[in-house]
Amino acid sequence: MKKEFKAESKRLLEMMINSIYTQKEIFLRELISNSSDAIDKIYYRALTDDNITFNSEDYFIKIDMNKDERLLTITDTGIGMTKEELEENLGTIAKSGSLAFKSENELKDGHDIIGQFGVGFYSAFMVAEDVTVTSRALDSEDAYVWKSDGLDGYTIELVSKDSVGTTIELKIKENTEEESYDEYLEEYRIQAIVKKYSDFIRYPIKMDVTNRNLKEGTEDEWEEFSEEKTINSLVPIWRKNKSELQDEDYENFYQEKHYGFDKPLSHLHISVDGAIRYQSILFIPESMPFDYYTKEYEKGLELYSNGVLIMNKCADLLPDYFSFVKGMVDSEDLSLNISREILQHDRQLKMIAKNIKNKIKSQLQGLLKNEREKYEKFYEAFGRQLKFGMYNDYGANKDDLKDLVMFYSSKEKKLVTLAEYVERMPEEQTYIYYASGDSIDRIDKMPQTELVSDKGFEILYFTDDVDEFAIKMLMNYQEKEFKSVSSGDLGLDSEQSKEEESKKNEEHQDLFAEMKKVLEGKVKDVRASKRLRTHPVCFATEGEVTIEMEKILKAMPDNQNVKAEKVLEINTEHEVFKALASSYASDKEKLGLYTNLLYNQALLIEGLPLQDPVQFTNDMCKVMV
Ligand code: ADP
Ligand code: MG
Repeated sequence: MKKEFKAESKRLLEMMINSIYTQKEIFLRELISNSSDAIDKIYYRALTDDNITFNSEDYFIKIDMNKDERLLTITDTGIGMTKEELEENLGTIAKSGSLAFKSENELKDGHDIIGQFGVGFYSAFMVAEDVTVTSRALDSEDAYVWKSDGLDGYTIELVSKDSVGTTIELKIKENTEEESYDEYLEEYRIQAIVKKYSDFIRYPIKMDVTNRNLKEGTEDEWEEFSEEKTINSLVPIWRKNKSELQDEDYENFYQEKHYGFDKPLSHLHISVDGAIRYQSILFIPESMPFDYYTKEYEKGLELYSNGVLIMNKCADLLPDYFSFVKGMVDSEDLSLNISREILQHDRQLKMIAKNIKNKIKSQLQGLLKNEREKYEKFYEAFGRQLKFGMYNDYGANKDDLKDLVMFYSSKEKKLVTLAEYVERMPEEQTYIYYASGDSIDRIDKMPQTELVSDKGFEILYFTDDVDEFAIKMLMNYQEKEFKSVSSGDLGLDSEQSKEEESKKNEEHQDLFAEMKKVLEGKVKDVRASKRLRTHPVCFATEGEVTIEMEKILKAMPDNQNVKAEKVLEINTEHEVFKALASSYASDKEKLGLYTNLLYNQALLIEGLPLQDPVQFTNDMCKVMV
C-alpha cells in the first residue's frame, strides 16, 4: 500500500523532480556521505560493544552501473535502517534540510536551495525517476525495501537481504531535449564526481572499472576486462598537504559537510605537530546562519580522533565570540571513547582550543589588513558577536577583540577600526568621541554632535545595542578614553570658555533654578549649553549610564528601571531662550509651559517616550493660540 509523504517532504521532492539546477551531480555526494555516516555508526558501536568487531576490509561503499537498465546503485555495509527508520528518515524531510525557514518565494526558485543547501537523500530525485532503498539494520534479521517514484508516495515491504547495510538503486531518468542523464551511467563521469566531492571519505568507494589488456600472444589486439577498484584516495582532506589543495577543494569540503548554506568567506588549514598534535580545517562563513543570534544556534567544531568522528559539535573548541566558525579538528592525542564530561576537562583539548582561538584571531587580522572588503562583509554578519565578546565575561577577552571591532565614522562615512581612529586624532584631541543612536541618519542629526563636529573631531557612531556596553568594558584604547558626545563634560573646554560658561550659568541662575523646579524629579539639572550651535535644547548625561543604555536596559526583561542622570541643556544664544527669559520675568505659568515643552522636545530627539503625550500636544496648542 502506498503511503503519502509529509507535506514538507513533498515540497522538497517536487523541487527535486522538476529541478533545472545544473549541478545535479551533487546527488552522489549526498548518497555517499550518508553511506559513510552509516559506516561510522557501526565503527562507533564497535568501540563500546564487544559483540561487534570492526574489520576494516568489511566496510566499504560500492557503486554499480547497469547501462541497459539505466540503474545506478550505491551499496554500503553501514548500520542500515529498520522499517521504522526507513519510514522516519526517508518519509520525512532531512533534518539537515533547510526548508523550514524558507519562504514560499524562495522555494519557488529551487535553484538557490539546491545549490546552497544540503538537501540530502532527496537529491536522488534530481536524476532518478524511481528510487529503491533496501536496508537491513544491525541486530536485525529482516530487511525492508522502500520504493518511491516520486510525489505519489512510497511503499515499504519485507524482503530478505544477506548482510547488514543499505543499497540504494536509482533508475536514471531518460534524456530529455534539454538535459542529458546518460552521463550518470558513465564510469569516467562517476569517477570524476567521486573525486571531486568525496575523495576524502575514509572508507573505500569501490567500482568496477573497465580496463584493457593486450591479448595474449598478440601485439595489437586488445581485450577489455572489468576490475574492481577503489576510486577515492581515502586520505582525508585535512591530512593532505596545503600545497596540493585549491580553494575549490575547501569549498567542496565545506559544502559536502553542510557546514553552511553559503560559500566560505575564508578558510584556514592548520597542522600542528608539537606538544599537541592536531589537524584542523576552519571556515569563516560568508553570511550569517538564519538562527545565528537565537538560542537554537549551537556553536562547535566536529571532533575527530585519529580520523574517526567522535563528536558533531564540540563546543569547548570555540570561544563564544568566534561561534560563527565552522569546521573540524582531528587529533591523534584524543582517546576515541572519551566522554563529553571528561572531554571538557581534557588538557589536550584545552590546548587545542587555545591554539585555534589564536589562529582564528590572526586569520581575521589578516583579512582586515589585506582584504578589507572581505573583512567588512564578515563584520557585517558577525561584528555584533565580536562586540558581545568584548563585553561578556566581565571583559576577559577584550584584548583579543579590540583590534577586530569597527564602528561607523562621522568623517570617513564608513566602518573604521579604533586604531585607525586614534591614528588620525589631532594632537589637541584627548578623547575618542562617540554618539549613540538608533541609526546613522539619526545620529547625524543629533544636536549633541554639533560642538565636537565643529571642532573637526571624528565621532564614532554606535548603532548596535551592545556598542556602548562593549566600550565601557574596554574603558580605553591606546590609553585614550572614550567619551560620549552627550556626556556632561566633553573635555573640550579651555579655561576661558569654562569661565564664560560659569558666568552664563550664574547670570541665569534664577531662571534655571525655576525651570529645575518645574522638572522636579525628571532632570538632575538645567544648564546653559556649550555644545549646542543651532538647536535650542538637548540632554546631557552625568554618571555611567547614558540615555542609549537606559533605553536598552529598559527593554530587558528584568529591568531595574535604571535611568540616566539627565541634564537639560539650553542654548542661551537661541531665539527661544529670549522667550524663556521674558516669561520668567513676567509670566511664571508661561515659563512652566515652555519648560515642559523643551523637556519633551529633548525626549523626542533622544527617541525616548513622552510621559504624557496628550499633555504635550495640549501644550503645543496653547502656544499656537
Ligand atoms: P542527513 O544525512 O542530513 O541526516 P539525509 O536526507 O541525507 O539527511 O538522510 C536522512 C537520514 O536517512 C539520515 O540521517 C540517516 O539516518 C538515514 N540514511 C540515509 N542514507 C542512509 C544509509 N545509506 N544508511 C543508513 N541510514 C541512512
Ligand atoms: Mg545526508
